Amino acid sequence: MAKKQDKKHADSASDKAILDFGKAQNYTPAPESTGHIRLKKQYELFINGTWVKPSKGVYFDSVSPSTEQVLARVAEAGAEDVDKAVKAARKAYTEVWSKMPARERGKYIFRIARIIQERARELAVIESMDGGKPIRESRDVDVPLAANHFFYYAGWADKLEYAFPGKTPESLGVAGQIIPWNFPLLMAAWKIAPALACGNTVVLKPAETTSLTALKLAEIIEESGLPAGVVNIVTGAGATGAAIVNHPDIDKIAFTGSTEVGKIIQKAIAGTGKKLTLELGGKAANIIFEDAALDQAVEGIVNGIFFNQGHVCCAGSRLFVQEGVAEKVIRKLTDRMASLIVGDPLDKNTDVGAINSAEQLKKIQEYLKIGVAEGAEIYQPTCSIPTKGNFCKPTLFLHASQSHRIVQEEIFGPVLAIQTFRTVEEVIEKANNTPYGLSAGVWTDKGSKIFNLTSKLKAGVVWANTYNKFDPTAPFGGYRESGFGREGGLHGLLPYLKLS
Ligand code: ADP
Repeated sequence: MAKKQDKKHADSASDKAILDFGKAQNYTPAPESTGHIRLKKQYELFINGTWVKPSKGVYFDSVSPSTEQVLARVAEAGAEDVDKAVKAARKAYTEVWSKMPARERGKYIFRIARIIQERARELAVIESMDGGKPIRESRDVDVPLAANHFFYYAGWADKLEYAFPGKTPESLGVAGQIIPWNFPLLMAAWKIAPALACGNTVVLKPAETTSLTALKLAEIIEESGLPAGVVNIVTGAGATGAAIVNHPDIDKIAFTGSTEVGKIIQKAIAGTGKKLTLELGGKAANIIFEDAALDQAVEGIVNGIFFNQGHVCCAGSRLFVQEGVAEKVIRKLTDRMASLIVGDPLDKNTDVGAINSAEQLKKIQEYLKIGVAEGAEIYQPTCSIPTKGNFCKPTLFLHASQSHRIVQEEIFGPVLAIQTFRTVEEVIEKANNTPYGLSAGVWTDKGSKIFNLTSKLKAGVVWANTYNKFDPTAPFGGYRESGFGREGGLHGLLPYLKLS
């Protein structure tokens, strides 16, 4: 009886939702203001608590992917600059940070969290200007989560012995951290907060297309009074990252980025004794069973692949729908896609912002051609997209098959490939048929089905009846070609500690 009522409720809610969504396209623009943003024309390297010019005098532009405006010039760190940063981090480790009582370390981390909160609006706007993600995402997800990671790990700083009872936790030394462009501030927080809580010092490199919020974080770190050299931020591209990886005085490398670069890093440090964590690509399966709350599931699918332009390693880019509801789900999905607003990342109504770089947009467009050539049926809503900047319509591929490249390879764009299934065994096999293993989503009314699938899906994170939910207390990470090691939660302390 209860089930019947639920179903009825779901259907009527869906009809209403379609009507409401239809209006969304007519919203008056509601752009977030940028008048309060203070960006320097040129950013130097943050080494040993001060701003240092790059030794070779080379700079590169940080360009807005939506307006194509140059937002600032950013220093490119060479191997000599990386060496300076590592030396500063080592000195700060031996002379100050490793000797400081843990509760004092915690206070600094707590202070960083508070300042992030105080400057949340500024950080969110810069994140959207520099990276292209909708302000709704940077304001409601990236920045609050970044602050919460610092708060959470500030709490662990003086409680490490309780985290690992019977063991003696010790810091490692200097951590080299390399992050990607999809969650620039959040990834910096994921990496810096646990490293500091465990008593390590840091040399961090943001991605070359999104350096600005990491540089703002450097300003925040300066403001917090953190001792000089405890966190050093060096900007640059792959060569700067490689200089960190290959520096002999680094004790640990934490990398988030492509599987291709992850493999290069793993080879480079093999035999050096450096500790390593890798968070790499993904090709997540989102699975909808016939008994699922379909409207909720469709909203979760849209959130999982379109809201962040698919720029998420754990993006639900493969959708498996049980045959009996496939037609209905596809109709609901295409209706919902037709209402998505693609455009100005700073507009509070925007659902799908700008693709992070022209290079990434080209890669996504290549995959759209590949999908069509492979025989999948393409669907894109008729919505308009800005003529300037890097934009891509949300795209659905129907009749995709396991062997298609659009199903096997990570696209990192707002592109969803749909397949159908009949049985639980079939969908488990199909979902696991990928070299990756980062995340998955299951949508069903039955708890037993969820438990069955979570134990059989080869993915580090499985969300049930939700998607892309993050919390500082929950560990995140993958296996197989998605990498190893966990970030977040108590598990996120382990990569930054020696336990004896
Ligand atoms: P994406 O494809 O998402 O841009 P990458 O793996 O190319 O991912 O980049 C992720 C991060 O790794 C960026 O900060 C980038 O500058 C850095 N990077 C790229 N190549 C190397 C390398 N060979 N060694 C170390 N870091 C690198």
